[in-house]
Amino acid sequence: MPAAFIERIETSLVDLPTIRPHKLSVATMYGQTLMLVKVFCSDGVMGIGEGTTIAGMAYGPESPEAMKLSIDAYFAPAMIGQDATRIQALMAHLGKLVKVNHFAKSALETALLDAQGKRLGVPVSELLGGRRRDRLPVAWTLASGDTTRDIAEAEQMLQERRHRIFKLKIGARDPKTDIEHVAAIKRALGDRGSVRVDVNMAWSETQAAWAIPALAQAGCELVEQPVASAAALARLVRRFPVALMADEVLQGPDTAFEIARQHGADVFAIKIEQNGGLFAAQRVAAIADAAGIELYGGTMLEGAVSTVASAQLFASFAQLQWGTELFGPLLITEEILTQPLDYSDFELTVPTGPGLGITLDDDRVKRFTREGLVKVTNKKH
Ligand SMILES: [Mg+2]
Repeated sequence: MPAAFIERIETSLVDLPTIRPHKLSVATMYGQTLMLVKVFCSDGVMGIGEGTTIAGMAYGPESPEAMKLSIDAYFAPAMIGQDATRIQALMAHLGKLVKVNHFAKSALETALLDAQGKRLGVPVSELLGGRRRDRLPVAWTLASGDTTRDIAEAEQMLQERRHRIFKLKIGARDPKTDIEHVAAIKRALGDRGSVRVDVNMAWSETQAAWAIPALAQAGCELVEQPVASAAALARLVRRFPVALMADEVLQGPDTAFEIARQHGADVFAIKIEQNGGLFAAQRVAAIADAAGIELYGGTMLEGAVSTVASAQLFASFAQLQWGTELFGPLLITEEILTQPLDYSDFELTVPTGPGLGITLDDDRVKRFTREGLVKVTNKKH
């Protein structure tokens, strides 16, 4: 295959409103900002990638603004003139120039994979080993902060056959109130819906040791990141008749190996951004498989671009025991694709077109693009 060189990289920030406030233990979200990156290559192919965070900087060390700045100032100048078809070699090179910055790397790797898929006429899943499934179960997060409203929202999702797995965001209130909230929702839904919780690290180990059995009693089947530290999580695993999932502590293959080594979780929530890209997330999944840890496809509440990138990867996983939570685009009020994603019968259809298999509605994206900040890098510094 002839080389295709990177000619130009464009970054922008897109601010989109959410359908309702999204309450987590760390913050309440009223909107979502997408950092979009376009990589233009010498063969006329353009790839697109996305970086998002959960609630600005309340969740982790990178912000959309910081991702954009790191790409504009460091990644993009180093990428101009490089062979766009040698993605793993290029990402390894960038890894030497820029430490961590996992979200920015994930956005760039997504764009390179999108371009390569378009170039070869295959979906990104085929560049990752080939897909094993075309549809992915998608959980919905109930996070309005109000029990009655959450039950009504769940009932609506069941009726529309959009979701039947519900993740409840808890941890902001005292554990007793949260447990009553979870129990009330599970009572209302019964066997029609699976109920899981995400504590987003809000509890101490002693709070968790008291609260997790009560959650299990209430019918909750999965508890995500109840405590902050990997060591505390490991001490809690297997003490209760409910699965414990690692999320925030998973920051790439090295951390995955450490957690697996100490039997530190029953389930991994895999996120392409948090782990530093699709290939890194793929290695995390391999570690989980080898360790007998089950898998769940997580989200950084991404928009359509990174959601589909995640879907392309999760479609290729050998195991996906707990389904996914790739509902990010549904939390946003605006459709930014020319053809909306297919969420139906409780699942998301993984697009089959070349690359990510999606097309941005440029006019619509432009309306929400933050003014004066679009940056184009087109020559070596
Ligand atoms: Mg989580």
